[in-house]
Amino acid sequence: MNEYDSNRIFDITKQINYFPTKKKAEADCYIINTCHIREKATEKVFHDVGRVKKEYKNKKKPILIIAGCVAQAEGDLILKKDRYVDAVIGPQSYQSINKVIQDIESKNKQYDITNFETIKKFDELKFIKNNNSKVSSFLTIQEGCDKFCKFCVVPYTRGPEYSRNFKEILDEAEELISNGSREIILLGQNVNAYNDKDNRLSDIIHALQEKKDLKRIRYYTSHPKDMTKDLIEAHKKCSKLMPLLHLPVQSGSDKMLKSMNRKHNKKEYLKIISTLKEKNPRLEFASDFIIAYPGEKQEDFNQTCELMENVKFINSYSFIFSPRPGTPAGDMKMVDENLAQKRLTIFQNLAEKIKTNYKKKLLDKVVKVLFENKMIKEKNKYFGRDEYHNPVIVYSKKNIIGQEKRVLIKKTSQHTIYGELINTDNSLAA
Ligand code: SF4
Repeated sequence: MNEYDSNRIFDITKQINYFPTKKKAEADCYIINTCHIREKATEKVFHDVGRVKKEYKNKKKPILIIAGCVAQAEGDLILKKDRYVDAVIGPQSYQSINKVIQDIESKNKQYDITNFETIKKFDELKFIKNNNSKVSSFLTIQEGCDKFCKFCVVPYTRGPEYSRNFKEILDEAEELISNGSREIILLGQNVNAYNDKDNRLSDIIHALQEKKDLKRIRYYTSHPKDMTKDLIEAHKKCSKLMPLLHLPVQSGSDKMLKSMNRKHNKKEYLKIISTLKEKNPRLEFASDFIIAYPGEKQEDFNQTCELMENVKFINSYSFIFSPRPGTPAGDMKMVDENLAQKRLTIFQNLAEKIKTNYKKKLLDKVVKVLFENKMIKEKNKYFGRDEYHNPVIVYSKKNIIGQEKRVLIKKTSQHTIYGELINTDNSLAA
């Protein structure tokens, strides 16, 4: 979502003649768009501020703005601690960025713009063209969260659930497609909680399915609680909806899920997976896991490993629990550090084994790849992603950016798959 927000910030600042530059040390204005999910997020901000100071040591000081969720959560602290920072702007207030920049230009004071103004933000953004022209583009449809998982900062940094206007989303999608986008990734902290005057996420997917030049649709990140029948059905009916679903589960233990306030249990989660598989047997799954959440016993951890074995997630993101200040889990007693590390290693080895087996099965299969760009360092090599979001590289003398092609998989490595373009109509890998 930060990538989407950063692009929209560029779209806004263009109106006052501030354009993106790749020459870092020559910018007149420096905006650091931050994420609060990872550990030590605030420390990283101060580190980045230090880097900017160093880069501009013998030059005119740039306007320096901290945007995003760290600004929202710890803006006060940042402004107090470092006078070099001119403003903090939360993720729901960045529509005000031009005024802030102009005010900083004319007055020498610090600004704290961290109100939750989500409605105002999208009301103002709808008049500003989305200039993003990437083959695969993000499109935010929903923000915020009302679920309050005990470990998570999102409800405090992005605010309550908000769904954008249905028509405005489709207008922006049209804009992206006319800019050259061929894949749209619908975004939301709780993307499947989308609800605008009874239009649900499935309605957006069905509407996008009809867009002629759009080839692919994905959505991130969903909550099991909001996997409604209509959305599950869309995975059967909409051919452009890619057959990979990222559905965070966090733990395979009901005791842990309850303690996290996840609002789903393992049985319900597995039921969703099996129903989806019945509707569309080509579906594969990805998920997020928190290892060593406070109170996690060996038995709970074993259940998480069993879930991994059972579903065989082809992608997983796993981290040792790290407390976020201000969240209910922030003060809970941590699992012993060594034990937590040991469990993470066991879990990640298991996940890697499953992924490697899955990738081996791709060898000599034909997959459909949407090509996104040309490799910078390697001549005539193109990068794209298959339907399961695996990165694929092929050789081609012709420019194939923006095209979906059939590729025969010849080699797989930990991070990349290598293939050859083919013209025959072989069946696709399931
Ligand atoms: S549902 Fe997702 S965004 Fe909302 S509180 Fe839980 S983890 Fe955070």
